[in-house]
Order: sequence, then C-alpha cells, then structure tokens
Amino acid sequence: MRHYGLFIDGSFTTAGEGETFAAVNPFTGRPWAELREASASEVGAAAEAAALAQPGWAATNGATRAQILNRIADVIVEHADEMAVFESTDNGKIIRETSSQMLFAARLFRFYAGYADKLFGSTIPLDNPTIFDYTLREPYGVVGLITAWNSPITLLCNKLPAALAAGNAVVVKPSEHASVSTLEFCKLLSEAGLPPGVVNVVTGGAAVGAAMVEHPAISKISFTGSPGVGRKIGAAAGAQLKPVTLELGGKSPNIVFDDADPEAATIGALAGIFGATGQTCVAGSRLLVQRGLYDEITERLAARAATIRLGDPLDTASEMGTVANKPQFDRILASIEAAKSDGARLVAGGGAATGEALGDGLFIQPTIFADVRNDMALAQTEIFGPVLAILPFDTEEEALSIANDIPFGLASGIWTKDISRAMRLVPKLKSGVVWVNTYRMVAAQAPFGGTKESGHGRERGAEGIMEFTTTKNVMIDFSSEARDPFAIKN
Ligand code: NAD
Repeated sequence: MRHYGLFIDGSFTTAGEGETFAAVNPFTGRPWAELREASASEVGAAAEAAALAQPGWAATNGATRAQILNRIADVIVEHADEMAVFESTDNGKIIRETSSQMLFAARLFRFYAGYADKLFGSTIPLDNPTIFDYTLREPYGVVGLITAWNSPITLLCNKLPAALAAGNAVVVKPSEHASVSTLEFCKLLSEAGLPPGVVNVVTGGAAVGAAMVEHPAISKISFTGSPGVGRKIGAAAGAQLKPVTLELGGKSPNIVFDDADPEAATIGALAGIFGATGQTCVAGSRLLVQRGLYDEITERLAARAATIRLGDPLDTASEMGTVANKPQFDRILASIEAAKSDGARLVAGGGAATGEALGDGLFIQPTIFADVRNDMALAQTEIFGPVLAILPFDTEEEALSIANDIPFGLASGIWTKDISRAMRLVPKLKSGVVWVNTYRMVAAQAPFGGTKESGHGRERGAEGIMEFTTTKNVMIDFSSEARDPFAIKN
C-alpha cells in the first residue's frame, strides 16, 4: 500500500484532519493506495498557500516561467513510464495509451511554455488622440482545477500548463476514483523547480470540490466531468459570480456516408468507441451509417470487435483494459441490459467479459447494437463505456437531423470522399469539434471544447490560455490638459 497526504505548499501533509479512502486497482480489485479526504480547512490551507505564492509566480518574468515549464516537460518525459504505470494501475486504461498520454502532457507544457513570454495585449487607437489606450492580459490569481477519473493527467494538463504560463497558482482536485497519478505528478513539478504553493493538490470527493468552488481565495474554476456535476458547479460559482470553464460529457455522432472508405471508417468507428474502453468524453458512441454501407459496416465492426484483445492494462499487448471503477462498471452493464429490453439488435458483446487472463478485473465486452433509433436511451444517454449504437440513415439531411438531435455538442465525425459534402456539413453540425475522415485526433495547437450540455470554454491551443487570463484596459491621458468634467463635448 502506498500512502498519500495532501500536497500543500510544496510538500505532502503527514497528518490529516479528514477520513482516508482507498484507491482500488480495477484489474485486481484490490486497494493499492490510501488517500486523504481533505477537510474544508485543508482546502482553505491549499487555497491560501496558492494565494501567497501567486504574486511571486506572476512577477517571475515570462522567460523564467517558460524555462520552468519546459523543465517540467523534460521531467515528465523522463518519468513517463512510471507515471503511465501509476495511471493504468489506478484506472485500468491500457499502458499503450497512458504512455502516449504522458508524452502529450509534456507536449502541452512545451506548447504553453511558448506563451509565457508572449502574453501580449494590444494598443487601441481611440477617438481622442491624446489618450493612449492599451490592454494587459492578467492572471486570475488562484484557479481551481477539478478533474474526472478517465485520464487524470491528460485532463489536468489540458488546464495546468496554460494556467501556470499565464501566472496563476492552482489548487487541483483529481477524482476520488483516480488520484494517485496527479499526486505523483506534483513531485515532478517540485523537482523541476516550480516554487512551493504554486500547485497544490487536495484529494477527496464532491465535498472537497464544492469547498473549492466556495472558497473566496479561488477566483475561477476549470472543471472536467459530468454534465450533472457541471450544472451544480456552474450554479454554485454563479451565485458568487465566479467564472467557470466546463468540459462536460458527450454522445457524439460519427457519420459514415456511402462514399466513405469502408475500412478507414470501420477503424475510425472502432477507435472512436473502444479506445480507452469507451471512457472518453469524445467517444463516437452514435455511429450513423448510410443505408448503402450499413450492412457491410455493421458486419465489419462486429467481426473486429470480437477480436479486440482484452487484458492486463499493464501488458503492452492488451488493446482494451478494464472499466475504471465498480460504480461505472455497474452503470455500463445496466445500460446494456436496458438497450436489450428496448429492442436494439445486439451484434457484438453484450455483457461482462471473463476469462483466466482477466482475473477479477472489471472487464466489459466490446458491445455493439444495430438498428438503434435516436429516441432510445441508448442513443441519447452518455454511457461512458465500450458500447456502440449504430443508426441507419438515408439522406444527408436525415443524418444531420439525427446528429444534432441530442442535448450534447462535444464532437462529430464525418466519413466521406466528397469534400463538398463535408464542407456543407461542418457549419451545420452543433458541436465544438468536427473530425473529417479521422476521429479522436488531438493536437496541442487545436482548441477543444463543447457546446450545449457539453459545456463551454476551450482548452488547448491559443484559446486555452485565454481561459486563464482576464483583460485589463489602461487609458493614459498625455495631453497635460485639465479636463472640465462639465464641459459639453461635441
Ligand atoms: P463527475 O462529474 O462525477 O466528477 C468529476 C469531478 O467532480 C470529480 O473530481 C468529483 O469528485 C468532482 N465533484 C463531484 N461533485 C462535485 C461538486 N458538487 N462540486 C465540485 N466538484 C464535484 O465525473 P466523472 O464520473 O469523474 O467523469 C466522467 C464524466 O466526465 C463524463 O461525463 C465525461 O464525459 C466527462 N469528461 C469530459 C471531458 C471533456 O473534456 N469534455 C473529458 C473527460 C471526461
């Protein structure tokens, strides 16, 4: 068993006020680390440590901040293998994926290091020529970063390097279902020279996150998680007029037209739903297939799904790991049973996966339902697991109507060789991301985020850093004239 305190002001606390809870390995079913549920006063201590450290960090010049962020990237790369093992042990995601996620985390640190000394404002010509007007991009101060369990380091690094590059200090709260990699990550930050108090981590559940939202020293919240919790955080933050960025769930349409390359579309659909065991916000969980390719794609997918290699998340040969935790495992199985009784046609999987190599792991078979109607719960509810719904369509208009008929708006996929069709559809799809002839592709430079119930605000890219700065406008009157406030202006 490993034991972790909270990470406050550059070191781990040794004695805690609150209860402890266990991190459970979803492959073995056994607890492997003990964590602390932070009390409200410990959340306060983390927020105050951040508030004390932030002015010094913001005053550190951009070039030095960039140097530290680049050093953090180096240290992440050096420790990528062990960090991947922590994360895969914690949430059952295959090591192939967590390893590449660590390298992407380093990439994001380097990307935002480049912004640390380039947070330019603008000069603005006014009507009055003797007033010099310019803007400054300033940090919020202390920001709270609250993340989900499916990819703790990726979700954190969609936020953290941008927040730091802009001169903020942070309090982080990872999910109670997968906190270890985030805590281990802190050691790397100190090793790379980040001053104490600039990054603090508190662990625990909903009450800890709620205390962060309430704390007056925390000026902004950036949240990744479910729409239900996003709503609560938005409301609590709104009551205090505190800004929030919300990265929420999805039920994304992946649309295959008759003229698509069937092999590429099949692989894209598989990657869209079975990558990360389907536990990804951008899962292409609604596959819309035009009638001419419908049977072929359905058969190809069913055949490929049956060959996906489930296994120990730490084995590099495994292609799909476990579900991350027991409550999620139970929810996914319940959704599969509900889809069966709603009359969707099961063409692959359909339940828990067992076998000698799978031990007591929380494995679910790659599951596919065909002939799904868009009004079924299977087509409307985010399952966050390896369950694909295939829906047939006849025309482009029908595909568009089904694609947009959903409360979510995170991502969409289009598979077609007809570039005119793709260009026609892109502006009509109500989602923050559109992929054409690819799916689940990410880049440090490309902004990411949702519309509708998938949230608001953007991460990554140039827009990502804007979420962590506010604009100050400055007017300097250099006329040397005393301006009579009662004079009539023409
Ligand atoms: P969740 O909403 O249950 O929990 C997310 C975090 O919020 C956890 O750290 C949790 O402890 C905390 N929390 C819970 N109640 C809170 C409250 N009242 N106040 C403050 N914090 C609170 O989500 P989850 O089950 O961990 O993750 C799955 C969800 O996350 C899915 O809906 C998925 O689509 C979404 N997600 C979105 C993205 C994205 O970038 N859009 C990425 C990954 C996951």
